[in-house]
Amino acid sequence: MKVLVVNCGSSSIKYQLINMEDELVLAKGLVERIGLDGSVLKHSPIGQDKTVLEAKIENHAQGIKMVLDALVDSNHGVIKNLNEISAVGHRVAHGGENFTDSVLITPDVMSGIEECVEMAPLHNPPNILGIEACAKLVPSVPQVAVFDTAFHQTMPKMAFLYGLPYEVYEKYGLRRYGFHGTSHKYVAQQAADMLDEHMTNLRIITCHLGNGASIAAIKFGKSIDTSMGFTPLEGLVMGTRSGAIDPAIIPYLMKKESMTPEQIDEYLNKKSGVLGISGISSDFRDIEQAAADGNERAELALEIFTYKVKTYIGSYVAAMGGVDAIVFTAGLGENSSLVRDKVCNGLEYLGTRIDSDKNSVRGEAKEISVDGAKVKIFVIPTNEELVIARDTDLICRPLFH
Ligand code: AMP
Repeated sequence: MKVLVVNCGSSSIKYQLINMEDELVLAKGLVERIGLDGSVLKHSPIGQDKTVLEAKIENHAQGIKMVLDALVDSNHGVIKNLNEISAVGHRVAHGGENFTDSVLITPDVMSGIEECVEMAPLHNPPNILGIEACAKLVPSVPQVAVFDTAFHQTMPKMAFLYGLPYEVYEKYGLRRYGFHGTSHKYVAQQAADMLDEHMTNLRIITCHLGNGASIAAIKFGKSIDTSMGFTPLEGLVMGTRSGAIDPAIIPYLMKKESMTPEQIDEYLNKKSGVLGISGISSDFRDIEQAAADGNERAELALEIFTYKVKTYIGSYVAAMGGVDAIVFTAGLGENSSLVRDKVCNGLEYLGTRIDSDKNSVRGEAKEISVDGAKVKIFVIPTNEELVIARDTDLICRPLFH
């Protein structure tokens, strides 16, 4: 069984074709600049060089068509016929309270995803376009939706409700949903496997530190709290996002700087975080370099970022009544030994410490705590595509028998 994994952004489509028997990625690629000048498909078939196909790609349907054509192309294709694709798995950003797990897409499911557009106006619409395009182009192939929010639906009310009148939760669904669910779920499971233990016996804190960053408290296999909230703006200081701030700052700034709601939204999402603090970049490689060169604001940005991660870890230890493993993942978590070191410096009271030799690891699954540490620290590369493919496989396999 071969599963096509599709992740549609506002102007991009990421995809992977995965053979589920051995979980081998047969091809992967990226459509970029949909609807803009210079649109392009970058297609990497297994064992071959990347092919770059420039074309006018006006919408997601055209982008998906190009991907399907590339997969069966006589030169750079990896399958002979589209019939070889057994199912398509879509990443969907927001499932609200409608979806607690991945689901086979039906007209009812589409209505449920559409209901969540208001809460994820930038993300759910392109996800819907991708699903509609696949339904048109390969109508007999079942499709599955895998939600960023679903894994966190196990949070109890005390963790997901804000200190707002209860009516706004009932009226508008204003609550914490959390994101990066597939990533948190995947790396927690990997950590449990590396410990040769069941997730149901472990308390794990997963730190997904990328351009967007979130932390989750996973107690006995279930997410019981996470740092992102109603939107992916809450929680940690991120590349360009402010993370949690005093909400009173928002009307204050709007008045002082004569900002509209759209402008303050853009300010908090695109101009804040590490970029705003440092005035240099949202990319941690630039920040680390500038800090090493003595730039004080870059140093400050690093200190603030890592301090926030540390304080979330502390609060989740309290929430779970202890911790057995801490996992670092995503661009920064997988690659930056400096960030991991700064975050863990001071956690000795928990019974753990980073082994500085082991901490030089990059992009590979490894335990990095000192030998005999009570709490294990791991670096585990995330693989959201594989989780989407596995869920899709699990849901669709019974349809073929
Ligand atoms: P992601 O959103 O998961 O792709 O992660 C992107 C972030 O990871 C960016 O801020 C990158 O600067 C950061 N990153 C990637 N590689 C490294 C590295 N070798 N050292 C420090 N940061 C890195």
